[in-house]
Amino acid sequence: MATDGKIKMRTPLVEMDGDEMTRIIWQMVKDDLILPCVDLRTEYFDLGLSHRDETDDQVTRDAAEATRRLGVAVKCATITPNAQRVEEYGLKRMWKSPNGTIRGLLDGTVFRTPIVVRGIEPQVRSWRRPITIARHSYGDVYQNAELRVDGPGTAELVFTGDDGTQARRTIHRFEGPGVIQGMHNLDASIRSFATSCFEYALSARQDLWFATKDTISKTYDHRFKDVFGEIFEDGYRERFAAAGIEYFYTLIDDAVARVMRSEGGFVWACKNYDGDVMSDMLSSAFGSLAMMTSVLASPQGQFEFEAAHGTVTRHYYRHLKGETTSTNSVATIFAWSGALRKRGELDGTPELTAFADRLERATIDTIEGGQMTGDLARITSLPNVQTLDTEGFILAVAKRLRA
Ligand code: NAP
Ligand code: MG
Repeated sequence: MATDGKIKMRTPLVEMDGDEMTRIIWQMVKDDLILPCVDLRTEYFDLGLSHRDETDDQVTRDAAEATRRLGVAVKCATITPNAQRVEEYGLKRMWKSPNGTIRGLLDGTVFRTPIVVRGIEPQVRSWRRPITIARHSYGDVYQNAELRVDGPGTAELVFTGDDGTQARRTIHRFEGPGVIQGMHNLDASIRSFATSCFEYALSARQDLWFATKDTISKTYDHRFKDVFGEIFEDGYRERFAAAGIEYFYTLIDDAVARVMRSEGGFVWACKNYDGDVMSDMLSSAFGSLAMMTSVLASPQGQFEFEAAHGTVTRHYYRHLKGETTSTNSVATIFAWSGALRKRGELDGTPELTAFADRLERATIDTIEGGQMTGDLARITSLPNVQTLDTEGFILAVAKRLRA
């Protein structure tokens, strides 16, 4: 603590501002919750859509570069433009998703974790602690090649090396019409994914689960299993043992059955399609997209924290008309607390880590004390709930933080 009572930071955070309702919340969270307690140091990047357009999206690449340099970033939700947004904002181009650009530059994996509070019960009764899902975001069915064929005929899988050598397999001898699909993945991408998962599990001090269908897919899925196994043996077995955590591999159907019977409290690494499906199952079973945080972790150990939801456009248009909104800021608050905690851990500043814990505690206590935004008030099992507006909720958290 310094003489002004504010917590000092050794290294700045990368701060990526964003769009619409979450941009409004961003400022409130800083003004009401962070700045009164922390002598905040950030390198600020305005990823608001207009500024991305003005800079030809250079600001997004600069922000990713700064994250590589400083190691920890916090990001506000941003608009991914479509044709309607190009018109609304008079854009020069339909810029790519900032999250996609940043993920590409950091070569990272996204980890999503529900924020668990009393009064918003998971649909699965055995779940006591959050389950974090890590989805591989390259290849498989998302970058496939497909054909519809009339038959009769023979479908083959052919690889032609640049030296002219060929490898081939018969897929099927068709006697009538049908469909064919080819897909791929890369050792390098699987390796980055595995490394990000092992790093994240160590940093969260939680077991890592991974599952594929290697009994059926004896080459493709088996490659995933082998890469994870090799990386674990080479770099992580001892570190996991020292941290008191485990790496656990099983078949995907067995994993699903075990997840449903588990108490939670682990990281679940999923192949691309499994992650797509299972992350929606987990987020809705845990209660609400507005109560889900998201962190991009690179294989080099850099972290970018954000909310899992978008810019909440419908609420923003109401806000612009001067109407009262009740937008949930919990995931944005936790993006800040996650980034501040990680900064504190890396810098060895326990006051900052402790502040992150206090901020999260105050947020959870506010909800468990019966004060919440409308989205939670509609689903909570708590009695006598007080529904607050957007800033009212943040001020209620601020009051508890001061107490
Ligand atoms: P969204 O912003 O997540 O909102 C969808 C709906 O979910 C909202 O209309 C609201 O429902 C509810 N909701 C989400 N977050 C909430 C919160 N914090 N508090 C209360 N309710 C919440 O998704 P979207 O409308 O599909 O996308 C809007 C913009 O966000 C798009 O331009 C998209 O490109 C962008 N986006 C960005 C990210 C990111 O930066 N990571 C992720 C996804 C989408 P009700 O209206 O029924 O209250
Ligand atoms: Mg999906």
